[in-house]
Amino acid sequence: MEFRDLKKQYQVLKADIDKAMVEVASSAHFIMGAPVKELEQQLADYVGVKHCLACANGTDALTLALKALGIGKGDAVFVPDFTFFSTAEVVSLEGATPVFVDIDPRTFNMDAKSLEEAVRCVLDQMTLRPKAIIAVDLFGLPANYDAIREIAKKEGLFVIEDGAQGFGGYVRKPKVDGNGYDIQRACSFGDIATTSFFPAKPLGCYGDGGAVFTNNDQWAALIDSYRVHGKGSYKYDNVRIGLNSRLDTLQAAILQVKLKAFKEYELTDVNKAADYYTQLINGMTKFIKKEIQITTPYIPRNYTSSWAQYTIKLSVPSGNGTFNREALQAKLKAKGVPSMVYYPTPMSKQTAFKEVHQYVLTPNAQQISDCVLSLPMHPYITREEIRFVAESLISSL
Ligand SMILES: *Cc1c(COP(=O)(O)O)cnc(C)c1O
Repeated sequence: MEFRDLKKQYQVLKADIDKAMVEVASSAHFIMGAPVKELEQQLADYVGVKHCLACANGTDALTLALKALGIGKGDAVFVPDFTFFSTAEVVSLEGATPVFVDIDPRTFNMDAKSLEEAVRCVLDQMTLRPKAIIAVDLFGLPANYDAIREIAKKEGLFVIEDGAQGFGGYVRKPKVDGNGYDIQRACSFGDIATTSFFPAKPLGCYGDGGAVFTNNDQWAALIDSYRVHGKGSYKYDNVRIGLNSRLDTLQAAILQVKLKAFKEYELTDVNKAADYYTQLINGMTKFIKKEIQITTPYIPRNYTSSWAQYTIKLSVPSGNGTFNREALQAKLKAKGVPSMVYYPTPMSKQTAFKEVHQYVLTPNAQQISDCVLSLPMHPYITREEIRFVAESLISSL
């Protein structure tokens, strides 16, 4: 069994993907060929944002967002303490300072109360200027943007959405006239939003890729410049220091095929898979030792995840020992079930950030990183495979 079965996806989409790749090879327009612009338009339409700018990867996408907003030395950028390293790394790379914020232990996303406290602390100490928030749609679930926006507005901060894992997820909002719902998709919540097309992300390519989204014309123009060596009126007119960060035409052509499948059925199927996992695991917890508690993912009302990961929590609520996660993973592996720990270390505990001041305590991030476990998850997983994983998990406990 694969943790994320990209081979199976290729078998299903093979005819179209092979055709797309051969077309690019024949055209020999490997850099910024027509498929890139086409893909950008398709992504912008799907997400519901005016501009989409493709780039080399999700980390560069964040860097381009920070550059467009003019973030640098002396600026504080608030990031969740529980995320992939990139989210905080790019802040330091731009010379700004990441301020680690605690997470909501149910959604794993940035906690608004902790954010507010962190902003207060930075303002009180007067050494850094609070400038921006990078909220992450962790494991596919959009962050709590209503609460985050309110704080951003009050304090005059930019909101950057790190939608590397969130692409496709959405929030339903009741229509003003009371008839039905509008949906707002991930990558449209930030002033600038970013995503990654790393192969294992909800929408992945066959290598590295990423994109930046914004409704703001000026930021879009800046990002377009920064991604090609700070180009001015043309390629050899360089008006600022930038990056070489484009999406390959080959990747754009592959992504067009994958985006179609994502919209037509993958997002629906991965949600069905998640529902089945949750139903099975919750139905079986009565068979495990009383002192062990399994918590299936929590999706708030009106939210839909794109299930970059299906992540459970394992705890020993009454006992005094901690749960032996490695032993469980070894048992699962012996049964042929791969599992992963996303993420074992909060940002504030990373060696690379040991000199970075921690303004607020982040106990939830610490506790969650000790008890999470991600199970095999992708749109092509079968009900039999899900059942096998759930049964293996329960029998291992
Ligand atoms: C994967 C990921 C990134 C970085 O994307 P790359 O394409 O690997 O550079 C950034 N943030 C989060 C939350 C991610 O999961």
